[in-house]
Amino acid sequence: MNIADNLQNITTTLPKTVTLVAVSKTKPVSDLTVAYNAGQRIFGENKIQEMADKWEEMPKDIQWHMIGHVQTNKVKYMAPFVSLIHGVDSFKLLKEIDKQAEKNNRVIDCLLQFHIAEEETKFGLDEKEGIELLTSNDFAALKNVQILGVMGMATFTDNQNQVKKEFTHLKSIFENLKALNPAHSNFKTISMGMSGDYPLAIECGSNMVRIGSSIFGGR
Ligand SMILES: *Cc1c(COP(=O)(O)O)cnc(C)c1O
Repeated sequence: MNIADNLQNITTTLPKTVTLVAVSKTKPVSDLTVAYNAGQRIFGENKIQEMADKWEEMPKDIQWHMIGHVQTNKVKYMAPFVSLIHGVDSFKLLKEIDKQAEKNNRVIDCLLQFHIAEEETKFGLDEKEGIELLTSNDFAALKNVQILGVMGMATFTDNQNQVKKEFTHLKSIFENLKALNPAHSNFKTISMGMSGDYPLAIECGSNMVRIGSSIFGGR
């Protein structure tokens, strides 16, 4: 496994409009450093403590994305430095992110996570809940969070038609949410696609892919 080669092979095939999040969860800082030296600056982690440890050790021009499920009581550990939180799936969590962002005198960027897969286990809102959240007065009162778009994970299956249907669903949720507030020009991110399905995700409108094992090897 050559991390720098893998990274280059992927980045050269990605359209310029697509942002690559290098998913480095469970991997040692030495592996991340190889990717960093090859030019990668956006890393995705799914555990807050692990991300905070790596943030302390690594260069400070890295953008750290939290791609995993977030427990409300742990938001404070990443609030000083996190660049984008992908997995926001409740108002309660968003409110805590806002509170911790305010304490750190900053605005934290977030994506709303939607449940598009068939599997019961994956977290996320449905479209109706997303609309309710974004149009609520409670949300309007939050000054230290900004919702930049949506995130979702497709079902883990070989059935390409099903995966395509799920990605297309997320794209349609994105368009419907965007239409709620056309003046909000920062609402433009669709985070979908992983090692196994990112080309299809991009075909379906993704502009942010989260790729781990195809860069760093299996976990
Ligand atoms: C681990 C993970 C990824 C990356 O998965 P790979 O199959 O290794 O590319 C992407 N998104 C989320 C939310 C993850 O937890």
